[in-house]
Amino acid sequence: MLSAEDFETRAVHAGRDDLAALGVHALPIDLSTTNPLPDIEVGGGSYEAIATGGHPTEGGSVYARLWNPTVARFETALAALEGAQEAVAFGTGMAAVSAVLLAAMNRGRGRHVVAVRPLYGGTDHLLASGLLGTETTYCAPDEVGDAVRADTCLVVMETPCNPTLELIDIAPVVAAAGDVPVMVDSTFATPVLQNPLAHGAALVLHSATKYLGGHGDAMGGVVAGSAEWATAIRPVRAITAGLLHPLGAYLLHRGLPTLALRVRAQQATAGELALLLTEHPAVARVHYPGLPGADPRGLLGTQLRGPGAMVTVELEGGYAAAERFIGGLHLFTHAVSLGGVDSLVQHPASLTHRPVAPDARPGAGIVRLSIGLESASDLWRDLAGGLDAATLTAAGHASASR
Ligand code: PLP
Repeated sequence: MLSAEDFETRAVHAGRDDLAALGVHALPIDLSTTNPLPDIEVGGGSYEAIATGGHPTEGGSVYARLWNPTVARFETALAALEGAQEAVAFGTGMAAVSAVLLAAMNRGRGRHVVAVRPLYGGTDHLLASGLLGTETTYCAPDEVGDAVRADTCLVVMETPCNPTLELIDIAPVVAAAGDVPVMVDSTFATPVLQNPLAHGAALVLHSATKYLGGHGDAMGGVVAGSAEWATAIRPVRAITAGLLHPLGAYLLHRGLPTLALRVRAQQATAGELALLLTEHPAVARVHYPGLPGADPRGLLGTQLRGPGAMVTVELEGGYAAAERFIGGLHLFTHAVSLGGVDSLVQHPASLTHRPVAPDARPGAGIVRLSIGLESASDLWRDLAGGLDAATLTAAGHASASR
């Protein structure tokens, strides 16, 4: 349940309730790997509580792989932003995905997973590999009802999708899944723009490495949902050693008060650039939820509060044009990841989505842009230079498609 306070207020204050009593104003970083215990009784009782997925008793944190107060504060904050009862944080987004899959299988229903494509390449690959013991059926959003079986333990989906920026309607997927829980990867939207739990999802997941931290200097993953789910996921985290490091938790928590400001400013620039890109002859297609015709299901303003700051362009001239475009950019750093204060560009077919099956892999002319906080005019100048480079043939002449 979302608290009555506005998002911006929760983003500044959530997870900080105990600071005044501690006599500190900034978030404390607890680097202890182990914790002194008052006596065996308290230690044993607390260990039992944590091992079964609960919270430590007073004075009984026990051991940092099981529990850390700096991480717990970040979890409280994220839960408040997602309208969740609890959140569980991990060292990376993929560690969070893995723990959810293991916890879902552990509930006894079965090992079958329904995955709505497109998904982030790492998630797609993890599922396709069957490494964790899952068996996966990939499908389109409207095929979920047919794909679900008696032994399906989880439906996995992502919206906006990576890298197509397609919007998927969460509620119909949840309805088609019936009593099978749905996990929504909401990394691209952030809790500023979308709260999947409000649309019936059981779990919302973020690669916190992206917008939540926002500065490209902390890795993390977090999943939020009911207290029952958190209780099921925490023991998996403890056993598989996926806990977020407290320094990362500090940085990610410190990113939250500026999250809404960053996302809205980056989104405004992305909207301007997406429009300009549609008008350039080197561009075959721009994928951006805010463009006319890009939201046929009318999810902007209902499910998604804004189109976000990711823009994907399909270039005339395929791989060679993509190569020349990326090579012609100077302000955009050629690097995977996204959601930071500086703009990044990457070629999904070669990088983030390389492990995806060829028939589901993004096209060779597709380039993904993560728009940062630089000025829109500087970024456009850079993009226009890159697009000019993309239209040159290998011999250095403007190509016919221009
Ligand atoms: N989900 C999405 C949408 C992503 O883009 C990523 C990483 O790029 C992940 C999950 C995995 O997160 P991490 O790299 O923090 O493990």
